[in-house]
Amino acid sequence: MKRQISVLDQSTIDKIAAGEVVERPSSVVKELVENAIDAGASAITVEIKEGGTTFIRITDNGAGIDKEQVPLAFLRHATSKIRKVEDLSLISSLGFRGEALSSIAAVSRVELITKPHEQLIGVRYQIEGGMEKGMEEIGAPDGTTFLIRDLFYNTPARAKFLKTPTTEAGYISSFIEQLALSHPHISFKYMQNGQTKLHTSGNNNLKEAIYQIYGRDITRELIEIHTKDRDETIRIDGFIGKPVISRGNRNFENYYVNGRYVKSKIVTKAVEDAYHTFMMQHKYPFTCLHIQIKGSDVDVNVHPTKMEVRFSNQELVYRQIYQAILQGLQHKELIPQVTIGK
Ligand code: ADP
Ligand code: MG
Repeated sequence: MKRQISVLDQSTIDKIAAGEVVERPSSVVKELVENAIDAGASAITVEIKEGGTTFIRITDNGAGIDKEQVPLAFLRHATSKIRKVEDLSLISSLGFRGEALSSIAAVSRVELITKPHEQLIGVRYQIEGGMEKGMEEIGAPDGTTFLIRDLFYNTPARAKFLKTPTTEAGYISSFIEQLALSHPHISFKYMQNGQTKLHTSGNNNLKEAIYQIYGRDITRELIEIHTKDRDETIRIDGFIGKPVISRGNRNFENYYVNGRYVKSKIVTKAVEDAYHTFMMQHKYPFTCLHIQIKGSDVDVNVHPTKMEVRFSNQELVYRQIYQAILQGLQHKELIPQVTIGK
């Protein structure tokens, strides 16, 4: 049978597109916290219930959104962060695709309260399954609060793929930890079912953030890394673990490129190659490395989740990281202070 071709309606398009950005509750948390960071917040609170499936609330003290811009923010491809594709090479914000709010609003019930500090009164805006439910003026503190309820209530196929609330909460916790490590100058508070799970000081001390997340046994076995190559195309700062705190998996390898948590084969390989002679086979190091590189030397627009990056000069990146790690390892007394039973 021959069927008619027709263009999908907007709500169907949005639901399909939402699938790429919003895979699970932790994706919502990621997108909203990144927005809060982009808005210049110095304190961000994340509260979840039932693994984020029924309740996610994110509060920031950032720039806020002007009343007349609020409905715009929920349109697909609406962003204040870039104007043209050339801007991508200079991008310093975490977001730029203008897809998060429209995607989240397509598959959940959203309530937004926001007030820029120069305004006297804030607004409350509600949107459910992509349908505007109303907007009103309301007294509010400076900044923005997003409340996301009933994720995937209108896309049951997606809801079926969610894991248990405990597992989903675990994904969210690790995201918050990554954000606390990538932005030690921001205070993060994370609450699960009314209980505070993490509260970082935001005083820009990376080692303290590592301590707050990984505890004392890790923190006392760290080697500090600081480099700058001669023409300053790449700069590496942070901490790596002495081989004694190596692990059986890569879960403790943390890499940030221009403040963005990334998974990068080339970075991982450079680090692990440098550790090679210091560590047993099938062991992986603890790392928390910040890599600063010119925006034009890295492409962040590889995947909708923006977790992958491409470097224009892979060999340079490899070499600089490899050397920095090797130097750090060679210059340190590698005899452990304590033995850790883990
Ligand atoms: P993107 O982050 O890619 O620009 P989003 O859909 O995530 O796209 O957000 C759309 C726009 O809404 C942003 O460009 C920003 O102007 C505004 N916005 C979203 N969240 C916040 C927030 N917490 N504080 C201030 N502005 C925000
Ligand atoms: Mg965004």
